[in-house]
Amino acid sequence: MNLKLNRDGLKTIDEHALKSFPRECCGLFFGKFGENVIEVEEVVEADNVLGSPVAFEADAELVFKAIKRAEKSGLELVGIYHSHPKIAAYVSALDSEMMKLWPGVVWLIVSVVEDHILERKAHVLKNDKTEEIEIKTS
Ligand SMILES: [Zn+2]
Repeated sequence: MNLKLNRDGLKTIDEHALKSFPRECCGLFFGKFGENVIEVEEVVEADNVLGSPVAFEADAELVFKAIKRAEKSGLELVGIYHSHPKIAAYVSALDSEMMKLWPGVVWLIVSVVEDHILERKAHVLKNDKTEEIEIKTS
């Protein structure tokens, strides 16, 4: 299983993480589930309504509208991303709880410091356990 993301999408996420620092940012991936691949076609930035450095909650109305719009163009919600300011891109206890609420989607976590991105990791939930998957950039 891997995550396919184009350079523009990656850039959107990185810039979002940097401009939100030291707060967490979050957003959505729309695209398609393929065989052993999750293909992202659109990255949508969301507002972190918590404005917190250690947690996020996407603006519910924005999420609802984005899903409706994507459905019209035949895309599904395939993933959720958020940043980890000043800490590694590991799945926190809170993250794994939230992953259970959105089964099937990929979670991309971006570790960010003041002026650059440290690492990006993608995870999926499989049999109640998180599993890291490869990120392929095109
Ligand atoms: Zn997290």
